[in-house]
Amino acid sequence: MASTTALGVSRPPSVLAPARLTLIGCGLLTGVSALAGMAPLIAVVEISRRLLSGDTDVWPVIAVALVALAVKQLGTFGAGVLTHLADIRVSFRLRRELLGKLRRLPLGWFTDRNSGIVQKTVEDDVAALHHLIAHSVVEITAAAVPPVVAIGYLFAVDWRMALVTLLPPAAGLVAYRRAMAGAGTKYPEFMTWLGRLNGAAVEFVNGIGVVKAFGTPGAASRRFQEVSRGFARFFLDWARSTSRAAVVAEILVSPPSVLVVVTAAGGALTATGGLPLPDFIAFVVFGTVTTAGFTTLMMSVHPLVTALGVARDIRALLATPELPVPDDPVVPDPDAPGPVVRLRGVRFGYGDTVALDGVDLDLARGTVTALVGPSGSGKTTLARLLPRFEDPAAGEVLLYGVDLRRIDPAELYRHVAFVFQDAALLRMSIRDNIRLGRPDADDAAVRDAARKARILDRLEELPRGLDSVVGEDAELSGGERQRVCIARAILADRPVLVLDEATASADPENEAHIQDALSEVARGRTVLVIAHRLSTIRGADQIVVLDGGRIVERGVHEELLARDGRYARLWAYDRRARADAREELEAGR
Ligand code: ADP
Repeated sequence: MASTTALGVSRPPSVLAPARLTLIGCGLLTGVSALAGMAPLIAVVEISRRLLSGDTDVWPVIAVALVALAVKQLGTFGAGVLTHLADIRVSFRLRRELLGKLRRLPLGWFTDRNSGIVQKTVEDDVAALHHLIAHSVVEITAAAVPPVVAIGYLFAVDWRMALVTLLPPAAGLVAYRRAMAGAGTKYPEFMTWLGRLNGAAVEFVNGIGVVKAFGTPGAASRRFQEVSRGFARFFLDWARSTSRAAVVAEILVSPPSVLVVVTAAGGALTATGGLPLPDFIAFVVFGTVTTAGFTTLMMSVHPLVTALGVARDIRALLATPELPVPDDPVVPDPDAPGPVVRLRGVRFGYGDTVALDGVDLDLARGTVTALVGPSGSGKTTLARLLPRFEDPAAGEVLLYGVDLRRIDPAELYRHVAFVFQDAALLRMSIRDNIRLGRPDADDAAVRDAARKARILDRLEELPRGLDSVVGEDAELSGGERQRVCIARAILADRPVLVLDEATASADPENEAHIQDALSEVARGRTVLVIAHRLSTIRGADQIVVLDGGRIVERGVHEELLARDGRYARLWAYDRRARADAREELEAGR
């Protein structure tokens, strides 16, 4: 159930909510088990009390202790099983919710950084929650209940002796705090050293090719060795300064210290008649329990804090604003009159940066529109609005006369395909990559699409042809990857195609291939292409020149040249750059 904040923003419930009841129940069960686990100790005290008063009927006490012990074992086991089951339920549910969320997020959200966060969350963080749900509650309760009960009981028996019993752990805590405070002040320096060490390691590894080629490992590894030595010195000093206090703390909180103090003080009191013998025995038996769970508690803090942070991160990811989906979606009619795509008064900004500033543009049926303009003029931003990577801040983008925000995303992608620079191939066979948009396509159709995208010959050279797997035995260049994506778009056969022409490779052969592939894919489709080399789009039906987020010129190549404006200047610049590149290439030969 999502709660609603004052701002009306829907907030997902805590990720632990589904496990809350189980966790409370298991906490109680563990608490009861921990109490039952103390029965043998109580039995020891009770038996000595009876024996000392001449009562030899101890069997009922032993029987009760044995039953309690069985209850403890069953309870602990049961709580462990239940929390693990709850963990499986929660992580399954979270992974499903996260995947559902990813499906609803705008495509524009998936930057490299965000994709990294997703991977970390889905894989690592959900696993980190395992500790919190399956272990923390049970372990902390099991470690905390016996000391609390023991301290309460000892105060009831004799409050002065109870205070004496608590002296060593109290002194231990003070020492522990001192050790931690010492560690804390040097922590920033520790992080700085870690940074230095990582930097030196990366430098060393990056340079290893050169080192090997020139056979001078000494010079390159020297810096790494120096930093490592410096770090080792710092760490030793640091450890030495804190370890003394830490060792003292550790000794003071350990059960033997308590035992020494209790036996000495209690023994003296008992000998002088200040403490009855059964009470002395109670202190000897329960005194050690007061500090028994201390180490477990200390060790639980770090994973607990980490897991709570993870729970917050997952919640934040689940709260990321989604692509608004219409309640009553409109199915656009491809036969509707008018332009296939129309942008009206479109504005878009990234924070304070205005990327598009009042753009009006029509893409007529079956035409190719090329976007040109200097870097940063808004070409990519404009193109990404068509497959709805983002929604415009103002104005509208219409497909067959329907605002994209009123179309169901699945329906939208039945009409619009896109191929961008960062050509995305999934880690599966090339064949399946091409088939992504039409999974039932047969082999002949896949090969035909690859041929039209001018990539079939190259794919057949791969060790396993079209069965080669991306990232395993199919290593492709940027331009080649893009042509595989073009093959995918050809096979998917959507009427509208948005394309970012590859800039990666300027070699003429590759360029010619891409150009051929583009004219193939443009046939019968409405295409919007981001042009990086003007020569490839000379024949476009419409060339749109962007500058500073505005359309400054539009028309066909000859018209724009004749106007002798922005486009003519870009054209002249492009020609010069190409001539220079050619000369350089020839000079290099
Ligand atoms: P082009 O494709 O023509 O190079 P873009 O559409 O990429 O232009 O960029 C238009 C403007 O928006 C530029 O000023 C650019 O710096 C800015 N911009 C683009 N992407 C982002 C982003 N993710 N965050 C912030 N600013 C961006």
